[in-house]
Amino acid sequence: MVSCPQCHMGYLQEMEDAQGNLRIACSEYPVCRFESDSWETIYADAARFRHPVSPGQI
Ligand SMILES: [Zn+2]
Repeated sequence: MVSCPQCHMGYLQEMEDAQGNLRIACSEYPVCRFESDSWETIYADAARFRHPVSPGQI
């Protein structure tokens, strides 16, 4: 389980929007409005906040 990078209280869960596209949102919604459309984006953001990760390592 991946904890939310924004509130650090919820965890990220996959869901589909009305168009059938994958969305990744925080389990604490609507308290936390964190949302992304790909795990790559989330990992890239997390890496930027923590420590540099070279491309291809994930
Ligand atoms: Zn959250």
